[in-house]
Amino acid sequence: MRRSTRSLRQVRILWGSDPRFADHDAGPGHPERPARLVAVDKGVELAGLGDALVRFTPEPATRDAIAAVHPGDYLQRIEDLTAAGGGHIDADTAVSAGSWDALLLAAGAGLGAVDRLDAGAADVAFVAVRPPGHHATPTRPMGFCLVNNVAVTAASLAARGARVAVVDVDAHHGNGTQDAFYADPRVLFVSFHEWPLYPGTGALDDVGRGDGLGTTINVPLPAGATGDVYRTAIDEIVGPLVAAHGADWLLVSAGFDAHVRDPLTGLALTSADYAAIMASLVSLVPAGRTVAFLEGGYDLPALEACVGATLARLAERRVVLEDESAHGPGHPVIQAVRRTREALGLPLG
Ligand SMILES: [Zn+2]
Repeated sequence: MRRSTRSLRQVRILWGSDPRFADHDAGPGHPERPARLVAVDKGVELAGLGDALVRFTPEPATRDAIAAVHPGDYLQRIEDLTAAGGGHIDADTAVSAGSWDALLLAAGAGLGAVDRLDAGAADVAFVAVRPPGHHATPTRPMGFCLVNNVAVTAASLAARGARVAVVDVDAHHGNGTQDAFYADPRVLFVSFHEWPLYPGTGALDDVGRGDGLGTTINVPLPAGATGDVYRTAIDEIVGPLVAAHGADWLLVSAGFDAHVRDPLTGLALTSADYAAIMASLVSLVPAGRTVAFLEGGYDLPALEACVGATLARLAERRVVLEDESAHGPGHPVIQAVRRTREALGLPLG
C-alpha cells in the first residue's frame, strides 16, 4: 500500500459545511441542536488554519445515492413527515420542516468531499453535517439520525471498486453503519464505543456475517476509558486490520461525545486525545483519502475544543496539550482491548 507522503508544503483540509444544516430542529431541549454547529465553527476559528482550510458547500445527495443504503420507501416516509411540518419518528428522533433539505445535504456532503479529494483539492476532508447519521439503519431512522451519511459515501466508494474502512469513534455504537455492511466484505467497519450504552449493540463478538465475516470489528469500552486506550487499540487492532483490508479510503464517524465533559456518556477523552486519534487514523491511508463526518458531541465547549484541536493537529500547526491519566497494562480498559485482539486472532503484542 502506498503510504502518505508528508512534504513541507501546507497540509490542506477540505471543510464542508452549510448554514442549512442548522435548519434541522429536533425540538426544544434536544441535545442534538443547531447550536452545535456554532461551537464547531468556533473550533474552526480556534484552529487558525488560514489558507490551509479549503471550504466547500455540499450538494444534496440524489435519491438513488441514498437508496444504496436505505432502499424502498425509507425516504418517502421522512419526506412526508417534514412536508407536514415535522414530528417525532421515535422518542429520540424528530424532524422539522427544514430537516429535508438538511438531510439531503448531509448525505451529499461526503460524496462531494470524495469528488474534491479525487481532484486533488486537499489532503483530508471534514464534513460538519447535521443531522448525524451513524445510528440510521437501512430500514429505520433512530438515535437523532435520519440518513446514514457515512454509509452513503462508503456505499458509493465500494460501488466504484474502492476498498473502504469506516472507523467510528463516536461514544455510541455505530449500529446503522454496522447493519449496512454487516455481510459486505468491501467495507471494513470498526466501532469504538462505551459499553453498555445506547443503542445496546456492538458486542465484541459481533464480527460480521457471511462474506462479511471478519469485516466488522467492535471495541466496546467501559466508562472511564481514556485516550491511551484508544491509541493502544488503534496501534494493535485498527492499523493492522486496515492494512490487511487493503483500504484505500478511510471514512471516520467523528463523534466528539467520548469527551470527558459530554453529558450523555461516560468516556474520558480530551480534545488532545481526539486530535491524536484523528491524526493516527488519517495516517493509515494515503493522503487525500480520508473523509471525517461529524456525528455526536453534546457539550458545546468540548465540541469547540475537539474540533479546534483536531483541525490544528491535522494541519500540523500545533497540538493542544491537556493532562490526562494513563492506564497501566493491567487496567480493565486495556484488558478489554487485549480481549478484542485475542478474539480477532491477532497475536498479542
Ligand atoms: Zn454518540
